Amino acid sequence: MALTSPGAALQFVVLVPGKGVAGPGTQGWKYGYTHLSAGDLLRDERKRPGSQYGELIENYIKEGEIVPVEITISLLKRAMDQTMAANSQKNKFLIDGFPRNEDNLQGWNKTMDGKADVSFVLFFDCDNEICISRCLERGKSSGRSDDNRESLEKRIHTYLQSTKPIIDLYERMGKVRKVDASKSVDEVFEKVVQIFDKEG
Ligand code: UDP
Ligand code: MG
Repeated sequence: MALTSPGAALQFVVLVPGKGVAGPGTQGWKYGYTHLSAGDLLRDERKRPGSQYGELIENYIKEGEIVPVEITISLLKRAMDQTMAANSQKNKFLIDGFPRNEDNLQGWNKTMDGKADVSFVLFFDCDNEICISRCLERGKSSGRSDDNRESLEKRIHTYLQSTKPIIDLYERMGKVRKVDASKSVDEVFEKVVQIFDKEG
């Protein structure tokens, strides 16, 4: 079933960490959600030999800026279509790290055109310095070109300028479920489970 087919009933949980918070996003599987990380999809596309967007994606990521939505949404859409082509029952997605700015939100609304129901937005709230130190720790083994202080500070700037307003928008719609992500992994996990038990 293609996303664009009429009447496709899709259900989403959106995760907007945005600052580089290690969250237990992958736990969504337990509740029937397929976890799709926008950042991972972009990094895969960047690595793909012959990709016409590889260099562009790399530059945006290193600068902590948000890749134009046409690219991100085509990757997300393809991943969703593939998931549903393999199993048409799999219509619940946990979208990790998207939408991150107004451009993302508009592209999303245009593509989904009323077909996607956003169940709720999981917001991992965390102090900037904690986020930075966690990502620097991750950088020891991640090989990611944005796990360094310079890129991380740019990412925080982008977050405050572009992502925060999107979270505020969802907040006004009553969709945001906030998790204090400065706590330990176990505590964060427990809180996420509570939210999914209630809402998922
Ligand atoms: N990114 C983007 N659009 C998205 C998701 C990610 O442009 O929808 C880019 C952006 O440059 C961001 C980077 O990918 O800073 C890393 O995002 P990711 O969500 O992978 O970071 P994490 O929060 O997991 O550290
Ligand atoms: Mg991530």
